[in-house]
Amino acid sequence: MFTDKQSFVTSFQERFVALNGKSFDEGTEQEVYQTLATMVREQAIPKWINTRDKHEEKQSKQVIYFSLEFLLGRFLYNNLLSMDVLEVVQEGLEELGFNFTDITEYEPEPGLGNGGLGRLAACFLDSLAALSLPGHGNGIRYRYGLFKQKIVDGYQVELPDNWLRDGNMWETRRADRAIDVNFGGWIEMRQIGDRLRVVHHPDEVVRAVPYDMPVIGYKNDVVNTLRLWNAESPFDDEEYMERTKGSYKDLLKYKQSIATISEFLYPDDTTYEGKVLRLKQQYFFVSAGVQSMIASYLRHNKSLKHLGDHYAVHINDTHPVVAIPELMRILMDDHGYGWDEAWRVTKSVMSFTNHTLLAEALEKWPVEMYERLLPRIYQIITEINRRFCKDVLVNYPHLEPHMGEIAIVSNEHINMANLAVVGSHSTNGVARIHTDILKQREMRHLYEMFPLRFNNKTNGITHRRWLLKSNPRLSNLITDAIGTSWIEHPNDLEKLMGVSKDASFQEQVMNVKQQNKLDLAGYIQAETGIAVDPDSIFDVQVKRLHAYKRQLMDAMHIHALYQKIQADPTFTMVPRTFIFGAKAAPGYYYAKEVIRYINALASMINNDKRASRFIKVVFLENYRVSMAERIFPGSDLSEQISTASYEASGTGNMKFMMNGALTIGTLDGANIEIRDAVGDDHIFIFGLTPQEVMNYKKFGGYHAADIYHANMEVRNVVDALVNGTFDKVGEYQFQAIFDSLLVYNDDFLVLKDFASYMQAQRRVDEVFADKARWAESSIVNTAKSGIFSSDRTITEYANAVWNIKPTSVK
Ligand SMILES: *Cc1c(COP(=O)(O)O)cnc(C)c1O
Repeated sequence: MFTDKQSFVTSFQERFVALNGKSFDEGTEQEVYQTLATMVREQAIPKWINTRDKHEEKQSKQVIYFSLEFLLGRFLYNNLLSMDVLEVVQEGLEELGFNFTDITEYEPEPGLGNGGLGRLAACFLDSLAALSLPGHGNGIRYRYGLFKQKIVDGYQVELPDNWLRDGNMWETRRADRAIDVNFGGWIEMRQIGDRLRVVHHPDEVVRAVPYDMPVIGYKNDVVNTLRLWNAESPFDDEEYMERTKGSYKDLLKYKQSIATISEFLYPDDTTYEGKVLRLKQQYFFVSAGVQSMIASYLRHNKSLKHLGDHYAVHINDTHPVVAIPELMRILMDDHGYGWDEAWRVTKSVMSFTNHTLLAEALEKWPVEMYERLLPRIYQIITEINRRFCKDVLVNYPHLEPHMGEIAIVSNEHINMANLAVVGSHSTNGVARIHTDILKQREMRHLYEMFPLRFNNKTNGITHRRWLLKSNPRLSNLITDAIGTSWIEHPNDLEKLMGVSKDASFQEQVMNVKQQNKLDLAGYIQAETGIAVDPDSIFDVQVKRLHAYKRQLMDAMHIHALYQKIQADPTFTMVPRTFIFGAKAAPGYYYAKEVIRYINALASMINNDKRASRFIKVVFLENYRVSMAERIFPGSDLSEQISTASYEASGTGNMKFMMNGALTIGTLDGANIEIRDAVGDDHIFIFGLTPQEVMNYKKFGGYHAADIYHANMEVRNVVDALVNGTFDKVGEYQFQAIFDSLLVYNDDFLVLKDFASYMQAQRRVDEVFADKARWAESSIVNTAKSGIFSSDRTITEYANAVWNIKPTSVK
């Protein structure tokens, strides 16, 4: 029914009537979206079933990617592209009198993640399917995604993201595959013959019901699965009331308490409130995922001894680390394996990615909480710890003084990162520098014990969403220049090096950028009412708001420029549009103050007649995947200015680069590898090195006040935070920001890097004025971005970590 326009139009009208129970003439755009998505899903279903069958038939080893976050973004466009029916559908809808782009806007956006970590999981699913690899996602079907951000009088206000209100067209509820997950209660040791059997008497049972979403491979007929679990009651209502002799009200209360487990995504991936609930979420989706994996395995195999030849479980950050003791529990308690055998199997199945070095994000759970909520899991962790500590004392006695640091249980806390390293066969960092720091500093003792387990897998992004889909103009131009091979082999983008100095190609690339900037300008106008100059430098910083990412430094640069404009009537500069998008965790006061500061600068500068000829400041509210897709294609300059050694990798940096933006950045995370790829001439690097930052942190010697006193530019900007400057735009002081710099000695070395940043920005102005030079750099950035495709990353994981192979399903 999708083979040509006419048959699409006919079957679309038929399906519309059948699904909506009314004539097509009365159709709303939302119903058109829902009908279309339903049809696409139905088209994918035979391929979905076939993919499962082929994986079984060929006994392909599969990976399951366990992640508390999947920042998916919309599917419709990508699914149509992957199924090779985009044009037919676009033209068919046109004929029916609908605009395809408008229709896509009705798709609710599953924002089941905070930022880079969740988006990485989504890019990985896309690459697994595109590369015909048997790989699936396992996560939570949050009732509410990450909060929706509004800016009211400069302040961030959070609203619920009710993404399921009108239904999710892509999911299929699989009640037949529901799994019960046990919490609390007590453990009985029962002697049965010569074996000691463990029986867990839980005091709460939660039913995990899977909702499966198809992950459609790019033009290869592969459809993998993202399985998201919903928390429900295992009893029917009457049964529950009879068992508990409770009232109707008690029943509702009980049901609500269960539903809470999959109610919402914690709006922060570095600190956590509601700890018990968060722990419940973790065990809920991990236990359901591991149990469901074992159940599928046992449908076709007998002995779990060889589980590791058929399944790999990947643990995305520390949130799913409880998969390790959970698999131990199932092997021992449910299937009678002894410790050593269970341990061997568990390690062979599990692999782990560390995502951050920030101390507050390295999860440590109070022993008491585990003991109460997961009594059997706690016993197993204690035994893993006992054996590990013994191993240290016997085989690595010189590490004894560091036991508190490397043990799995110490100081009444469970160290999840240590458990992950000890209980898996692979631990990786997400960029070269990050992995090196893990090995040399953060985890140096564990690295000494298990050197072969540590490896690097530099992050990547799917070029299908972030270039092919979101930047059709540039994609078409690239294809005109070098053919289509880059779509399957993104490293072929390197062929663009052959035309990077070609004046006519440079001009075409700059024309595409200009058109994309016009689109972005239109979007900004529609969203904010601010008119921006499309000939100005579009200087963009979009990412979660966090002190280490230093949005503050970007804002201070703007303020310094504004002060120059005010002080000198003859001052001129290359016009710039500063564009920000960032959500702050709701409880993170400092981050919210930085948002207020940016918005205060915006109202001060945009309303100043002379200054606004040179500078506009735009804060786009509610940064998310669909907005990101509009921003990268129209960006000139990519702000990647984190304090060196704090950004594990970054992936926003890769999206900008691929879309031909030049990076201004520190030697941090993947910026280093971007610099190595493009060369120093095509990137603006500034600031302290990771080693210099780490030395300041270890030995001290940095005094923010010295810089404040020595540098007048810094002093004027910092003073303005608290001297009444912002009164005229109705804002009061920014005392917390001022204090972070001068009272608390500027933890993230903003003032230390400021002069070097300003200087790098002046280089940006110079290069931008030389159109040919900028164009060449832009082309070089796109040309060298192939290695940052998540296809490269996933190929490395498949070969070196998971040992899975492409499986053709044709
Ligand atoms: C890529 C992406 C991120 C990660 O950006 P970083 O700059 O690497 O922190 C966060 N949010 C969204 C919506 C993204 O698409």
